[in-house]
Amino acid sequence: MPDSTHVVCPKCAGTIRVPSDRLSDDPKCPRCRTPLFNGRPVELTDQNFDRHLLKNDVPIVVDFWAPWCAPCRAMAPAFEQTAARLEPSARFAKLNTDEAQGIAARYAIRSIPTMIVFKGGQEVARQAGAMDPRSLGAWVSRSLG
Ligand code: ZN
Repeated sequence: MPDSTHVVCPKCAGTIRVPSDRLSDDPKCPRCRTPLFNGRPVELTDQNFDRHLLKNDVPIVVDFWAPWCAPCRAMAPAFEQTAARLEPSARFAKLNTDEAQGIAARYAIRSIPTMIVFKGGQEVARQAGAMDPRSLGAWVSRSLG
């Protein structure tokens, strides 16, 4: 039986089954035609967080940030570059802690930016504080194993 991977569509949040050997072939959502990986972090909210966390078979790297946080804004381009480079081995996502306060509280986010890597819904790595592109890429790769 062919190995398959479930990926949550960044646009319609449908759970899409992709043959694992096709993940790098720019798969699109059959429902809304959106590319499942487009090199841009997915915006998470209180409403869609659990769906992305629990229905994705790929690990998720979440950047907990807020618009008023200068180090967060400074790190955003590095986070996007890392997303573009490491997809589809992981899903990259951002969570605005001002808007999604319930999720921020659940993970006891005390300072931002904080980045957490989740595998199978479980936190496997956490890093508080801004990182330059190289350290960020290295940390994510190491955390993905
Ligand atoms: Zn879709």
